Amino acid sequence: MIKFSNSYESLPSRFYSKSTPSIFENPKLICFNNDLAKNVLNIDASKLSDFDKAQYFSGQKIFDGASMISTAYSGHQFGHFNPTLGDGRATLIGEVQNHENNRFDIQLKGSGPTLYSRQGDGLSALGPVLREYLVSEAMHSLGLPTTRSLCAVETSKDVYREQIQPGGVLTRVAKSHIRIGTFEYFASRGDFDGLRTLADYTIDRHYPHLTNQSEKYLEFIRAVATNWSILISKWMSVGFIHGVMNTDNMSICGETIDFGPCAFMDTYKANQVYSFIDRQGRYAYNNQINIGKWNLARFASAVLPLIDQDEKTAIQKTNQTLELLYPMYDHEYSKILSTKLGLNEPNLEIVNLWLNFLEQNKLDFTLSFYRLTHEPKYFDQFPDFKIINSQRTQLIYDQDESNKLMKAINPYLIPRNHQIEKVIQQGLSGEYSLFKEMNEALKNPWQPNDQFGLPPLPDEEIKNTFCGT
Ligand code: AMP
Ligand code: MG
Repeated sequence: MIKFSNSYESLPSRFYSKSTPSIFENPKLICFNNDLAKNVLNIDASKLSDFDKAQYFSGQKIFDGASMISTAYSGHQFGHFNPTLGDGRATLIGEVQNHENNRFDIQLKGSGPTLYSRQGDGLSALGPVLREYLVSEAMHSLGLPTTRSLCAVETSKDVYREQIQPGGVLTRVAKSHIRIGTFEYFASRGDFDGLRTLADYTIDRHYPHLTNQSEKYLEFIRAVATNWSILISKWMSVGFIHGVMNTDNMSICGETIDFGPCAFMDTYKANQVYSFIDRQGRYAYNNQINIGKWNLARFASAVLPLIDQDEKTAIQKTNQTLELLYPMYDHEYSKILSTKLGLNEPNLEIVNLWLNFLEQNKLDFTLSFYRLTHEPKYFDQFPDFKIINSQRTQLIYDQDESNKLMKAINPYLIPRNHQIEKVIQQGLSGEYSLFKEMNEALKNPWQPNDQFGLPPLPDEEIKNTFCGT
């Protein structure tokens, strides 16, 4: 049914621990992503009934050949190093390879405590499961690199948070679950053999073209930085605020991972923060590029022992490389936002003028870019638009190209918080019709959709999001 090819399990045993999922009396299937199973993973789930899917994807039945491991990692959380994190509520069922030989992790999230659970119960509440399912699939439809959602199951076991909530298990699919924190785990323990094994494994899995490079670990830093600078710029381009860019939540292959208190911005505000726990605004919208650089430095310092045997030389080479890489983050940001404005070449000044205009007039981020693309006359009601727009249009030297760029990059539909909240409220009563409707709608983000695409009314606005862990 599923043919596993588990490579992480063949790494030294200190990289992970075996996990046994909790017992759930009566798990029920909420949703299974047939398209992902069939067309991306090439797994055949056609013989599984809904009952079987609920059993397998909540850990009650175990597929032949499954790994059932949880991985070890550390992480800088809000700037502070925590040496011992790891998959506290996640179990890797195993890896599959599709017809193109691309490898994917299939992981249960919320399936019960593991060696790394610390004080936690290893469970997920249903709300965050529905939220991650919708948001990760929407990210994919918007064209952003992201982990995907294969299955959502209701566990029928209560989860104790601020309030008692029904539990859920999300089956997550990722190119891998290796994070900056995985490197920090070995570096912080002085386990340089482990560090090298991890780096070689990661290069082989995600950056195989680097295998025979003479400075392969420096090149590794460069390749990872390239992916992150593109990823974070893409977040910026859709108004996405990750919310917890801790180093344990930054995937080494450059996918969006760990959808906690994340949110898509409605009204544009440069320093917007939704996460209730981010009191200082460390992970505010307009700080994400800087945090990306900070995280890159943490990654580089973790792999530093592999760069050169002589510490001074290693530091010098790494610092030189980082200095060259930081500007790439700014450049990618300026490039993608300029494209959204139809500019044929990046121009940060115009981007900033436009964003200030949005902020001053309290305009919706997504719909404003959409309107500028399809109905710019909408903005005639704003006196300061004329001058900004004339500066913008003067810079456009290929109008056809500009129109094409804008149409391709400015969506109508994003997963808005207030709509996700409605889905969750309905889900808490055991009804998922809204979840399914929203999930379907999000597959076509360029299609105007007034059911899910409109900004919240004042009384619908969600000001804070929570981890829900
Ligand atoms: P997160 O903020 O979800 O990225 O999680 C940070 C760390 O806490 C990771 O090591 C998680 O595995 C762990 N964790 C989060 N929620 C739970 C939970 N309910 N039980 C056990 N560990 C958890
Ligand atoms: Mg995490």
